[in-house]
Amino acid sequence: MTKVLVIGGGIAGYSAALSARRDGADVTVVARAPGATALYAGGMEVIDDLDAVLAGQPHHPFSRLGLDGVRLATELDNAIQSLTLALGKDGLKLEGSWRKRGLYADIHGLARPANVVPASVAPGELRALSGRRVAVVGVKQVGEYDAGSTAQALKELHGIEAFPEEVSIPDLPISASLTDLYGRRAPQVRARSATIAYPPGLTSLPPDSFELLASPPSPHGWRLQQAISLGSVTAQVTSFETSAGRIVSARAGERTFRADAFILATGLHIGGGLKGGRVTSEPLLRLGVFHGGEPVRSVGTRLQHLQYLDPAEELRSGLSTDKGLHPLDEDGNPPYANLFAAGAVLGGYEYAGPCGFGVPILTGWLAGTWAAKVNRVTTR
Ligand SMILES: Cc1cc2nc3c(=O)[nH]c(=O)nc-3n(C[C@H](O)[C@H](O)[C@H](O)COP(=O)(O)OP(=O)(O)OC[C@H]3O[C@@H](n4cnc5c(N)ncnc54)[C@H](O)[C@@H]3O)c2cc1C
Repeated sequence: MTKVLVIGGGIAGYSAALSARRDGADVTVVARAPGATALYAGGMEVIDDLDAVLAGQPHHPFSRLGLDGVRLATELDNAIQSLTLALGKDGLKLEGSWRKRGLYADIHGLARPANVVPASVAPGELRALSGRRVAVVGVKQVGEYDAGSTAQALKELHGIEAFPEEVSIPDLPISASLTDLYGRRAPQVRARSATIAYPPGLTSLPPDSFELLASPPSPHGWRLQQAISLGSVTAQVTSFETSAGRIVSARAGERTFRADAFILATGLHIGGGLKGGRVTSEPLLRLGVFHGGEPVRSVGTRLQHLQYLDPAEELRSGLSTDKGLHPLDEDGNPPYANLFAAGAVLGGYEYAGPCGFGVPILTGWLAGTWAAKVNRVTTR
C-alpha cells in the first residue's frame, strides 16, 4: 500500500487526503495549526468561468495542469461531490455546485459570490429572497453588529424587504462579541411569515431561516476546520530527508514520518507555506517561488511597484508546478519525483478571488490521486 504524507490541515490537505484514501493509500495528515481555511467567510468560491481561465491565465494552477476543459470539469465534479459527502459524514452539510454561483449576504448586508455553502447559509441566496420579507436578527448584548444597518443594506443594495428584529440573550457577557454566540441555540423571534436571517454561529436554526456570512474570526471557518481536522496529527514539519531526487521522510520535532509520496499543502502566508520578506521564499525545501511565470528573485523592483499599486498582487506569488503537480525549483525543474504541491501555496491566481476554494480543492484532489499512485506511475 502506498504511504502518503500530507503536510497541511486546511481544505487542500483535506481534499488531498480524501482522494489518496479513495485510491487506496495509507494517508497521514500533519498540521501545525489552523490556517486560512479556518477564516473563510462561509461561501466557497470554486470557479467563475473555467474556459476563460484556461484561455486567458496561463500561470493559473488549473491551466498549468495541461488538461482540457472537459477533463477538468469531470475532476471538479468528482472533487466537489466527494468533499460534500465526506464533510456531511464529518458533521458539516454543504450545498451547491461548482457550475453555479449564488450571492450571499455577510453580516454587513454586502453580497459575496459563492459556489458551495453550508446548508445553514444556502436559504439566504439573495436572488431567492426576492419578494420575501426578511427579519434580520440583532442581539441586544452584541455591540459589534447592527441588524438595523444590515437590514438597510439588504433593502438598498439588493431590493429585499428586510427589517431588523432585536432579541435579548440575558446570559451573554457584558459587551458580548459575535464570537460569544458560537454554539448557542438560535433565539426565537416574533416576526411571522418572514424568513429569518441570523448572525453566524448559532445552532438549531428554525425552519425558513439562514445564517449570514461572517468576517474573521468566522464561525463558518471554525466549523469547517473542526470537521476537516478529525484524525490529523498536530506537528510542525521542519525538515526533510532526501535522496536521489526523492523525499524519504519528513521531520517534525522528535518524530520522523516516512512515506512513498509527500503533499505540500502548507497554504500561503497565513498557513505558513510561504515566508514574506524582501523576497518571498518557500521555507521547507527552498522551492522556487514565482510571480507571473518568473522567479520572484528575478522580478525585483517591478514586483515591489506592482504591490505598491495593489497589495493583493503579492498574493499571486507562489509555487509553480508541472502538469503532475510536482513543484518546481527556480530553474523550472521538479527536484523531487514523489513531491506534490496543492492549495494556496501555489501562485498564479487571485487568492481572494473566484477560485479561493477551487484551487485548494481541485489541486488537493488531483495531488492526492497522483500521490496514491506514485509507486505505479512516476510521470504523467
Ligand atoms: C480572512 C480570509 C477569508 C477568506 N474567505 C474566503 C471565502 O469566503 N471564500 C473563499 O473561497 N476563499 C476565502 N479565502 C481564501 C481561502 O480561505 C484559502 O484560499 C484556503 O482556505 C486555503 O486553503 P489551504 O488548505 O491551501 O491553506 P490553509 O488553510 O492556510 O492551510 C495550510 C495548513 O498548512 C499547515 N502548515 C503550514 N506549514 C506547516 C508545517 N511546516 N508543518 C505542518 N503544517 C504546516 C498550516 O498549519 C495549515 O494547517 C479567505 C482567506 C482569508 C485569509
